[in-house]
Amino acid sequence: MVIKPKIRGFICTNAHPQGCAAVVAEQIQYIKGLGELGDGPKKVLVIGCSTGYGLASRITSAFGYGADTLGVCFEKEPTERKTATAGWYNTAAFHTQAKDAGLYAETLNGDAFSNELKEQVIDKIKADLGQVDLVIYSLASPRRTDPATGEVYKSTLKPVGQAYTTKTYDTDKDKIHDVSLEPASEEEIANTVKVMGGEDWELWLNALSAAGVLAEGCKTTAYTYIGKELTWPIYGSATIGKAKEDLDRAATAINTDHADLEVDAHVSSLKALVTQASSAIPVMPLYISLIYKVMKEEGTHEGCIEQIAGLYTQCLYGDAATLDEQNRYRMDGKETNDATQAKIKALWDQVTQENFHDLSDYAGYHHEFLKLFGFDVAGVDYDADVDPVVNW
Ligand code: NAD
Repeated sequence: MVIKPKIRGFICTNAHPQGCAAVVAEQIQYIKGLGELGDGPKKVLVIGCSTGYGLASRITSAFGYGADTLGVCFEKEPTERKTATAGWYNTAAFHTQAKDAGLYAETLNGDAFSNELKEQVIDKIKADLGQVDLVIYSLASPRRTDPATGEVYKSTLKPVGQAYTTKTYDTDKDKIHDVSLEPASEEEIANTVKVMGGEDWELWLNALSAAGVLAEGCKTTAYTYIGKELTWPIYGSATIGKAKEDLDRAATAINTDHADLEVDAHVSSLKALVTQASSAIPVMPLYISLIYKVMKEEGTHEGCIEQIAGLYTQCLYGDAATLDEQNRYRMDGKETNDATQAKIKALWDQVTQENFHDLSDYAGYHHEFLKLFGFDVAGVDYDADVDPVVNW
């Protein structure tokens, strides 16, 4: 099969196995290039391990610290006629490279919100690892089935309190236009908290602890985005921001509830960048295209792997952590500092349909977007016939 990108709105519905493998290899090379990282995790559970920040966490754990990794993801497997999702191919490529390096790597593909998957993970840890000493929580999902009631909750991306009109860039139509978003109802806010808040993170830690598979002093972190004024109306102060605030509550609860094991839970705030999750959020493609421009000019541009390498070496396993008043690790300072934000705001105010491609780094954004699915990767022959069926 010759595989070319099939883009529908903010998503690409297919993926290229060799391209995905090349992107995984690039991230592994980056981590290996950092050299000896010192003491770190040994047995790691990554929930949301197949793309974005979770994949970068898995790669950093394995290739930066030689850790055994057990991953959880929700990806579609390939058939003879249809490619897998990118996360499937990423995971297959990760497994190949980890095994070549003599590292344990197993992945369970299923619904992380379910009790069944949690039980499978516990059985796997008991059988293969004994205990885990780091749990990364990196899920991004539009819906969640409550395992206690079977009820399905959907998240929404809406402002809270009042309607909000702002510029956005429609990647599909190459158009800057205004978007007006009505405020969320109380129910929509509560549902978004139910999906993207801290409840499931807590349920994971409770289940792992009750099963005796958490090592003493186990670290755990869940990822958040805080941002600044430009994104607050649609992110930080919006429905998703309310869900992320709930992560702060959950971190405190986890530290209290598992104090006997000295579990160390923190929320980690990371910078905005192109992932499957962020490209679905209105305003984000425009905002990220502008920050790419500004931060590349400043020499501060980072992708998932650079952010996560920094999180591990400075915060999780280093002594240079920047902690905020909520006890969160902050890795977003290069984006959210006032000087950088002022430059982004100046561009934001000027940007129009006519000057968008000059003022922004949309070319860089689009390249990164295609790379998420294994496309536009140097050295990959996209005219070649490739077998979409790749397994791990
Ligand atoms: P992503 O879409 O790249 O990754 C999501 C992961 O979750 C994938 O591995 C996917 O398979 C898995 N997943 C989704 N639903 C699942 C389910 N039901 N069961 C099992 N696995 C499931 O997203 P991302 O951007 O890397 O986001 C990860 C976290 O980082 C999120 O909490 C997000 O809010 C946060 N974050 C993202 C950004 C950003 O700009 N992308 C910035 C800061 C923080």
